[in-house]
Amino acid sequence: MPVTEERPPDRSEQVRRLFQPVLDLIFPPRCVVCGRLGDELCTRCLATFSPLGSSICRVCGVALPTPGLCWHCRTQPPAFTRVRSAFHYEDGLRRAIHAFKYEGHRTLAVPLAAAMARVLPPPPTAALLCAVPLSPAREAERGYNQAELLARELARCWGARPAPQGALRRVRETLPQVELDYRTRQENVAGAFTARSAQVRDATIILVDDVCTTGATLNACSEALLKGGACSVSAVTLARATFKPAGYGSVADL
Ligand SMILES: [Zn+2]
Ligand SMILES: [Zn+2]
Repeated sequence: MPVTEERPPDRSEQVRRLFQPVLDLIFPPRCVVCGRLGDELCTRCLATFSPLGSSICRVCGVALPTPGLCWHCRTQPPAFTRVRSAFHYEDGLRRAIHAFKYEGHRTLAVPLAAAMARVLPPPPTAALLCAVPLSPAREAERGYNQAELLARELARCWGARPAPQGALRRVRETLPQVELDYRTRQENVAGAFTARSAQVRDATIILVDDVCTTGATLNACSEALLKGGACSVSAVTLARATFKPAGYGSVADL
């Protein structure tokens, strides 16, 4: 079994939770999607999130016309066992994730993780939830890692264990994946991560991230964790974006 470290209490998070009701009275929250007063993410907007359902690739979880194995997983099997995403990356969810990542709405982790936990099956009890890390420079600039906040809330929802801090680290700065094509995305993140063997050896790891597009980042993380001795790596993400370059589709397209 991996060595697990007690995490130090997150003091700023505790203070934030303590004073949030007072702040909410002075500055009533508005829904980041529709602007309605009340919650940071209202139930009406949450209800518009579209679950991926079961018509997906059984490995990478991409939406397919019929359930099966996508062209990519068939021709180049990834290092992870499977990826499961809760919702399509579109409309209200896209707006909510933008606010969560880029506009400082870190407390959106609570309703977003709860929505994930309602849609996705819980992990095995022995699994460790491990966030996809940002580079230290990017995390310092943003002030938080949104995947870490999601992983923490998911662990709370599922009663699961978070991976020890620093179990997986990003050791190389990478370009934003959003502007890259399929092959370049893989090259961009290859070897960008490293795992601490003492913390992941023999562990069942569930990676957590906000959005999965091609799975290149999750694959690079999985390679690092397996190299560090993890016995298996799967992943869950809040959203699944569509990426369809030529030749990327279901096996029926071959
Ligand atoms: Zn709303
Ligand atoms: Zn696939």
